[in-house]
Amino acid sequence: MRFRAFLQSFREYVWEPSDEEIASLVGLDVSKIRRFDLNTSPYTPTHWLKKLASELGSVAVNRYPDTSYRSLRKKLSRYLGVGEDCFVIANGGDEAFDIISKAFLDAGSEVVISSPSYSMFRVVSELMGARVVYVQRKEGFADDVDGLIRAVNEGTRLIFLCNPNNPTGNAVKRSDLLRILNECCDVGVVVDEAYQEYGGESFVKLTEKYSNLMVVRTFSKAFGLAGARLGYIVACEETARLLNKVRPPNSVDVITLRLAEIALEDVEWVRLRVRDTLAERDRLISEIGKLRGVKVYPSVANFFLIELLERDRDEVYTEMLKRGFVLRRLDDPALRRCLRISVGLPEDNDALIEALREVL
Ligand code: PMP
Repeated sequence: MRFRAFLQSFREYVWEPSDEEIASLVGLDVSKIRRFDLNTSPYTPTHWLKKLASELGSVAVNRYPDTSYRSLRKKLSRYLGVGEDCFVIANGGDEAFDIISKAFLDAGSEVVISSPSYSMFRVVSELMGARVVYVQRKEGFADDVDGLIRAVNEGTRLIFLCNPNNPTGNAVKRSDLLRILNECCDVGVVVDEAYQEYGGESFVKLTEKYSNLMVVRTFSKAFGLAGARLGYIVACEETARLLNKVRPPNSVDVITLRLAEIALEDVEWVRLRVRDTLAERDRLISEIGKLRGVKVYPSVANFFLIELLERDRDEVYTEMLKRGFVLRRLDDPALRRCLRISVGLPEDNDALIEALREVL
């Protein structure tokens, strides 16, 4: 069949296996599987779901959503303090990247990625036939701003940054971002703030001054709504208008839209769960830091990296997996001795510390 030839060599996004797949792989009951590899919130907003359930009878599922998503944009505008017309609503942050890539990239365009970072930046870019240039982060994973600016040429259309960065957990520095925005003013600068509610400074307000800035955010992390699929781009009005031209008209459903509005009426709950998560993160970092042969990297997010100084990373990964603890291995050569750990519920974190102590 006449598929695009490039699909043969294209490296697709690799999804995490399900609990069931992992359980059968390691011969454990599925209830014994504890996920520390997903970077999602361990807290389910049950009270939002109950409120939604009480309203479900009157949700007009026979009609399409309001494709301008105006009601949600109004609430987002209040949440972030930017204008209603500065949003592009998407089916998760991943669709937001897809929209940006469609709006900016032609075959042969170039994209610059501060690396290592979220692999979807590469995926959406390659799908458009763009060439990806990776600029390695400096010691401690800070963005190499000089390197990023030097990597930009006539063909460069987008620069991808991640704040805080997945998988390294460090934030983008305001002064670094300002240099990039000023020195690369005709290049689209994407700042992925999927985890920003956990830490680091949000740069959404800078979109008022910089038309080349696009900030991508999501309900999948701190809001605990990864399964509901909702994300958005914040940009200046004109940039948002152009991005909206390529957005699928109805990719967010009426039920998710209502759930998100309920969530935005209760951001205090999000703030409290973030507070709990950060306290647990600091406890995990401190306890795991006491184990022999482990270097723990600081993080402002709900996950962090550990580096195994004395043991084979894959062996530790497998030993943990056998006990039902799923950690995240990173493919990037710079992280070949590292595992990424997402913060879980206190009792699961306790069990993780115990299991790591045993394995190491
Ligand atoms: N950015 C980063 C850094 C992520 O880790 C993820 C989650 N995989 C996303 C964006 C996108 O998440 P979602 O599509 O669920 O909004």
